[in-house]
Amino acid sequence: MLNIVLFGPPGAGKGTQSERLIDKYGLVHLSTGDIFRANIKGETDLGILAKSFMDNGQLVPDEVTINMLKAEVLNHRDPKGFIFDGFPRTNAQAAALDELLSEINTSITSMISLDVQEDELRERLANRAKTSGRPDDANPAVIQNRIDVYKNETAPVIDYYSAQNKWIKIDGLGTIQDITNRLFDAIASL
Ligand code: ADP
Repeated sequence: MLNIVLFGPPGAGKGTQSERLIDKYGLVHLSTGDIFRANIKGETDLGILAKSFMDNGQLVPDEVTINMLKAEVLNHRDPKGFIFDGFPRTNAQAAALDELLSEINTSITSMISLDVQEDELRERLANRAKTSGRPDDANPAVIQNRIDVYKNETAPVIDYYSAQNKWIKIDGLGTIQDITNRLFDAIASL
């Protein structure tokens, strides 16, 4: 199996690039943000709980997120692989993912991070707000909170994968196609 963690700060382009990767490699795309948003739309208990955190730019608690992700992974029979988008966002999530994948006799192949500087992120998210309909994109204070949460809680996940020699850093600036090409090259050389 090819199991990729596509990593990066909010607005780095994980969702856009995930679409390109699933097309090329036939992977299952698991975006925790998308799954939470679908639950919010469906007014499920999970959605109601997640919404209060997401609207403020905070992380949904690990236990809730991990249980949801586990159920999603186990829901797929015989996948070619997974692309994890927006997960793991904490070291506890990374450890839980390793444990889960080992239970199904597989592991993370590589963690690829999209590198984008903060000013550019703020600009992209503010732009996305015009079309995304996402409350967490519409408010500059919430955007800043998400960037701060990324720096404090999520960036350390790089060290987790780096310690396993699985971390690849990609320049996230350029056209969408430039970045897709960099990702394809990185995966081809695995
Ligand atoms: P972005 O990367 O643009 O911020 P996402 O769609 O990945 O957007 O995430 C939106 C929000 O969903 C996050 O700010 C957080 O509240 C919640 N969320 C998504 N994934 C996770 C996760 N792995 N752990 C905790 N919360 C998460």
